[in-house]
Amino acid sequence: MTQLPGQLNPSPRLLLGPGPSDAHPRVLSVMSTPLLGHLDPQFLTIMTETQEMLRQVYQTQNQLTFPVSATGTAGMETCLVNLIETGDKAVICTMGYFGNRMVEIAGRAGAQVTVKEAAWGRVFELDQIREALKAVRPKVLGIVHAETSTGACQDISQIGKLCHEFGTLLITDCVTSLGCMPVKLDEWEVDAAFSCTQKGLSCPPGLSPISFSSRAVETLKNRKSKVQSWYLDLTSIQSYWGGERAYHHTAPITMVYALREGLRLVLEEGLEARFARHITNHKALKAGLTALGLQYIAAEGSQLPQLNAVRIPDGVDDVAGRKRLLSDFGIEVGGGLGEYKGKAWRIGIMGHNSRPNCVFQVLAALEQVLAGAGIKIDRGSGVAAAERSYAG
Ligand SMILES: *Cc1c(COP(=O)(O)O)cnc(C)c1O
Repeated sequence: MTQLPGQLNPSPRLLLGPGPSDAHPRVLSVMSTPLLGHLDPQFLTIMTETQEMLRQVYQTQNQLTFPVSATGTAGMETCLVNLIETGDKAVICTMGYFGNRMVEIAGRAGAQVTVKEAAWGRVFELDQIREALKAVRPKVLGIVHAETSTGACQDISQIGKLCHEFGTLLITDCVTSLGCMPVKLDEWEVDAAFSCTQKGLSCPPGLSPISFSSRAVETLKNRKSKVQSWYLDLTSIQSYWGGERAYHHTAPITMVYALREGLRLVLEEGLEARFARHITNHKALKAGLTALGLQYIAAEGSQLPQLNAVRIPDGVDDVAGRKRLLSDFGIEVGGGLGEYKGKAWRIGIMGHNSRPNCVFQVLAALEQVLAGAGIKIDRGSGVAAAERSYAG
């Protein structure tokens, strides 16, 4: 017999890419507590607590708010397949990689999809969205709040009201925004939102928190056809995460523990304090990256604090650079996607990782990587610029 693989012992990493981000130590700690059955009274209480905290973080009263048992993309798929029936019209606004994923899923769900495109790195103006709604009169409009492929932030605050003037439901991708920046489902009149656990909530990947407005629930009730997916069918999952707590599938118990702790951490810190922390660390990182000569992809004024996507300078090899960051410094950053494949580095400082320690480490390491690749750099300038930013 060949030798048994050794006990798992991964090298420590600092996960500063677009996700997963490092899990908070308290999250990892609750994950090693004993399993409960998915119908154990203790677990039912944990579910209720988790849903209540999730509503607070999403800033909503929506009854139908719970984590789908799979990653962010499953939340995306849940929102789309439950609200779309064959032949329904959908407008999807894309300004990067993840908008395109919504187009693909909506099409597979049977929608007649109209794609509105903004250049990668740009965002939509309200008038462009009004135009699309007027022309198409769709049942749903899908848009990404925080486009992780470009680091651009789409203002969602006025889109829900606008959609409702046309009888359209608003679906919003909050995968990279939840836990890092304000997400106000009720005030913004968002009808269906989805997120993940491994980015702003500092948990491992594995759950996708979603929330449906009463309008969306009404649409679900009035469907003429069955939801195309059995597993993601909210009309039946509701019997578990809704009132009855009847078996639908076995909840990933340990991941629910993790999410509960991640949400406790968010609310313990306070939403406003948490968002302010993300901005402070973003400003310092941005000052440092700028001092190193790196330029942001997203336009000034629509840059996400938690995801900093910058162009790789000419003459620096993408893969070699990231490889050195990982092997010499234990730091993972993301490469570019789609139009920016090979051309961008994406630095995430999300949730627990939004802190000075991470900012200084990545700046110091990047400086060495860039200098090593032959880029002329005023040595120490990145770290010094971040330091000045923190000093105010
Ligand atoms: C990460 C991400 C997703 C996909 O989430 P997974 O957890 O990888 O399935 C969807 N949308 C956006 C904006 C993302 O950043």
